[in-house]
Amino acid sequence: MTTRRRTLQRLGSVVLCLGTAELAHGAAILAVRVWPASDYSRVTIESDRALAARHFLTDGPLRLVLDIEGLELDAALRELVGKVAPEDPYIAAVRVGQYQPRVVRLVLDLKQAVAPQQFALTPVAAYQHRLVLDLHPLQESDPLLALVRDKEAAQAQAERAVQDALGDLITRVDPARPAPAASAPPLMTPAPEPPRPVTAAERRIVERLIIIAVDPGHGGEDPGAIGPSGLREKDVVLAIARVLREELNAQRNVRVMLTRTGDYFVPLYERVRKARRVQADLFVSVHADAFLRPEARGASVFALSTKGASSATARWMADRENRADAVGGVSIASADEQLKRALLDMSTTAQIRDSLKLGREVLRHIGRVGRLHKGTVEQAGFAVLKAPEIPSVLVETGFISNPEEEARLRDPDYQRELVQAIATGIRRYFARNPPLARDRQL
Ligand SMILES: [Zn+2]
Repeated sequence: MTTRRRTLQRLGSVVLCLGTAELAHGAAILAVRVWPASDYSRVTIESDRALAARHFLTDGPLRLVLDIEGLELDAALRELVGKVAPEDPYIAAVRVGQYQPRVVRLVLDLKQAVAPQQFALTPVAAYQHRLVLDLHPLQESDPLLALVRDKEAAQAQAERAVQDALGDLITRVDPARPAPAASAPPLMTPAPEPPRPVTAAERRIVERLIIIAVDPGHGGEDPGAIGPSGLREKDVVLAIARVLREELNAQRNVRVMLTRTGDYFVPLYERVRKARRVQADLFVSVHADAFLRPEARGASVFALSTKGASSATARWMADRENRADAVGGVSIASADEQLKRALLDMSTTAQIRDSLKLGREVLRHIGRVGRLHKGTVEQAGFAVLKAPEIPSVLVETGFISNPEEEARLRDPDYQRELVQAIATGIRRYFARNPPLARDRQL
């Protein structure tokens, strides 16, 4: 179990402490939200005043109980009951009730044991006070093993398709030969769950694999920028990232790891950590931001800078992106602060040099399908680009604040053109800078 998990468990019994003056009395609930994901599921309760709450776990049956003080049960809280999705990996159901006068109790029936983490967020962006409950798995699955098994499954499927086609051909040539059974069992089922032991074949796959971390910005509580007609950055960049994964995965020796696969928030340091855990060869963060002036337009590519930003716009963009954690919601206590600081201070000139090479290839190809904001790769202190050993770029695919660009970003054909350009840039980079033989360990 990692240090982080231990920290989470310790936090489980900590009561959120607020001064009596700040305690809510008759607070109004403004909204409740549930963000289910295999990474972790989150429950957010937004209110006009800070809420005091404490939680505890029970086993047999597995439940998490959250008592919120100074509150009367109201319609907004009751809505939570209907907001649990059947596919939520952690929460089976939620019940709410007035446990005591002025204490509302939430009971979460759990599908599996969790390491809960509770924290409060003060008003930021469009949000007022938020009480957040994150349910993390007790043990993280191994993302590299999951990628390799996904690769194996894809290969098996491709081989099966070839066999089926051959079988078809033989049947046509020799009608006496029985056709292959329509419901032949799959050669392998993708089962990312441990404890299936790692096979020699899997070790060989990982040795040859090029792994690209694709990072769709924002997500969950953090919508990113919102266009004039309501298009949300978090949605459009996830759509682009999924197409990019499909495009890059089509190459035999490439596997893409998405840092988020759905609509939930992933903290910036966690995105970097995920890329490092799969020993990614590249990191590409995808965004579509807003700017102060609605007429701002064009795509940009950014690399890290350790010595200040290359322009005022670059600094502005980096500051804006780095605020994602405040909006998305991160418990300061949860992050292993020391690890985080060490990680973020180790950026190397070699990483930046390679990131600039990658950025130039990507920018050049994007320039063929769309307008560029600036013809050179810009640099600024983006937190998400700070994996010390992984060439990392952030692609601003366009300004969602510009009505024309918002319309283009929404268009699946343009998304595909963009993806082709980014993928071509990545392939060109690898053609000129072949990845070193990595000493990956499964
Ligand atoms: Zn963004």
